[in-house]
Amino acid sequence: MAGQQGTRWPLASNRIRRGRASNTFGEGIRVQTDGSRTNHQGWDFYAPVGTPVYAIHDGVVVRADGVSGAYGNQVVIRLDTVTVNGSQAYAMYGHLSSISVAVNQRVSRGDQIGLTGVSGNGEPDQRLPNWEQDYHLHFEIRDRQDVGQGMGGRVSPATLYGSPPLVNTVIDIPAPPSQTPTTDGSTNAAE
Ligand SMILES: [Zn+2]
Repeated sequence: MAGQQGTRWPLASNRIRRGRASNTFGEGIRVQTDGSRTNHQGWDFYAPVGTPVYAIHDGVVVRADGVSGAYGNQVVIRLDTVTVNGSQAYAMYGHLSSISVAVNQRVSRGDQIGLTGVSGNGEPDQRLPNWEQDYHLHFEIRDRQDVGQGMGGRVSPATLYGSPPLVNTVIDIPAPPSQTPTTDGSTNAAE
């Protein structure tokens, strides 16, 4: 169950945080305790701190930084050949604990680009029951490089992945690092 246009999933094990629709994409999809509704710009995947995150397609890193905003440490990749709404697509990963790529670096589908964390506003609310279930990767698909607040430039990840994994976990383990064949037919492990 790969994504469309040759994409893979951002984690090895992909399931929406708490299996709740409120952790998927949409305007007004979140209901606050006071009854008001807020937007959510992407999908939240459940992920304990330190879970590896992967490039969903070949591309170029256009952002890799820690900012004092809601997203915390974030990576944005411009995806080769992938389009959404007729525009080149971008994948964004938020609340990371560490980043292992740099701006302008080329990445290949399945490359590890960092680890999940709680930076920005990703810290679970420990007053909630089973709060450990709120550790997550915030993941967006965008149709432009520069976005502001709100929903502008964000596209539902369902555009690439179909319906969100609310009930079943999607397993998408990356291939091991490639091995270089030698003339005698044996292989050298990648360095
Ligand atoms: Zn989120």
